Amino acid sequence: MAGEAVVGRVPLVRVEEVLERRHSPDLSRIELGVREILAGLGEDPDREGLVETPSRVARAYAELVAGSWDDAGEHLSRVFGQEHVGDDLVMLRAIRFASLCEHHLLPFTGVAHVAYLPSHGRVTGLSKLARVVDVYARRLQMQERLTGQVADALVEHLDPRGVAVVVEAEHTCLRLRGARKEEAQMVSTAFRGAMEHDRALRAEVLSLMGLGR
Ligand SMILES: [Zn+2]
Repeated sequence: MAGEAVVGRVPLVRVEEVLERRHSPDLSRIELGVREILAGLGEDPDREGLVETPSRVARAYAELVAGSWDDAGEHLSRVFGQEHVGDDLVMLRAIRFASLCEHHLLPFTGVAHVAYLPSHGRVTGLSKLARVVDVYARRLQMQERLTGQVADALVEHLDPRGVAVVVEAEHTCLRLRGARKEEAQMVSTAFRGAMEHDRALRAEVLSLMGLGR
């Protein structure tokens, strides 16, 4: 295997960087909405502790959804066509991410494991794999969609023989309210190509991810 690296956090996107982009969130509109939320909660949005809250929340959201204005293809466009690398499995485990549940606007956080089988030595840097997870995590998301989007981006840009993506996450909306399943982890998977059809291969990959039986 070419990589068993465990990468920590991808550096956070700075809000200034997001706002410089051609398309970016409308902060003043978010601020207006947050003022309404505060009023709806029975608070006085103008009291001392809350005066800056709408702008802080707006900037926090801008960072949390920064991936909406980013393109996974840009990060994967630098492909190394290295014949001597061979076409063995490449895997990056435990890529930490933070995302925003589109149903509750509450964060969900966890790790993604990404594996692919290159074809013709077409490989990308391990840090790019982490970056792609971040691009799709930093949006209004559903965990299942996030998992599929990461897999499909690799299929589209690397043309690999197979891809496996497994995401394990804890959802704030589950932990803090309603069901109150504090320890519950949601696991979602996306298999493409050989990983979808070859059960033995898939079992091997899952076990390398630390998820096998
Ligand atoms: Zn939710």
